[in-house]
Amino acid sequence: MTDVRLAVRAFPDCPVPLTEGSRLRLAGAVLTVTVLSGCLGVFANDGSSVSVGSPSKGALLHGVAMPFEGCGYEVHPDWRARNHRYATGAVVSWLTEVFREVDRALPGSMAYLGDLSGRNGGDASMHRSHASGRDIDIFYFASDGNGSPMHDLPGMLHFASDGHAIRWSAGKIGRIIKAQVPDAHFDAQRNWALVRAMLENPVAEVQWIFIHRDLAGLLLAEAEREGTALETIDRARALLHQPTDSQPHDDHMHVRVFCDPRERAWGCSDKGPRRWLKKHWKYMRTSDLVLASRSNG
Ligand SMILES: [Zn+2]
Repeated sequence: MTDVRLAVRAFPDCPVPLTEGSRLRLAGAVLTVTVLSGCLGVFANDGSSVSVGSPSKGALLHGVAMPFEGCGYEVHPDWRARNHRYATGAVVSWLTEVFREVDRALPGSMAYLGDLSGRNGGDASMHRSHASGRDIDIFYFASDGNGSPMHDLPGMLHFASDGHAIRWSAGKIGRIIKAQVPDAHFDAQRNWALVRAMLENPVAEVQWIFIHRDLAGLLLAEAEREGTALETIDRARALLHQPTDSQPHDDHMHVRVFCDPRERAWGCSDKGPRRWLKKHWKYMRTSDLVLASRSNG
């Protein structure tokens, strides 16, 4: 079985020639094929990572560390000491790819990561989820008054409904930032590029993106402005969601990916509805799939 950790480590530099990017994608494809062909007898025993349980009551076997820095992203310096940078190998591979894709499409992009999961998952301090290697906190891309991307900000920013930054967020590190709030804006173009890349990259499949509803509105407006395919916009509309039982997520997006089908045999549990048809098909038995395809014409 391909070791995704090696694949990620092998291509850390930016920019990456297409051949290397293709190889990384191939690593993901090999993983996917292996998943679909099923090798439950050796899975996890061979060192592959596995998400177990639910995002709130779960664990992570053989968690893979997201490198602190890569093409188009870094773990924010203040979050590094928390060491909540572990996920499944597929999620790490997927994230490094999508950040690379955004940087290629919009040079100068730099995504800042907050928490993923701890090395073995389980309770993540100050989170009710992030327990099973499938939750990722990402700062929103911010731009200055000229539309240029802003880097090296000391923390997350809360954005108002019109996209203006209004105050610093203490985030999960709980640090009060005294610096003046900059003239910063929610960078709809880069944030949409990231969401789109996540939805279109098949190495992992998004279940939810928790985001303030008004910021989601800015993303969808950007998607329409760019002429994005309707299917992608519809899917984004279904997955961008402001949670009702936690903070409104106006300072970062929280991304959750579905269990990999193979992980489900190890007790990986998706909470909530499987809203997206593709995912529904993915988990159906072949006989049901045939029936569904007939009924859907
Ligand atoms: Zn989160």
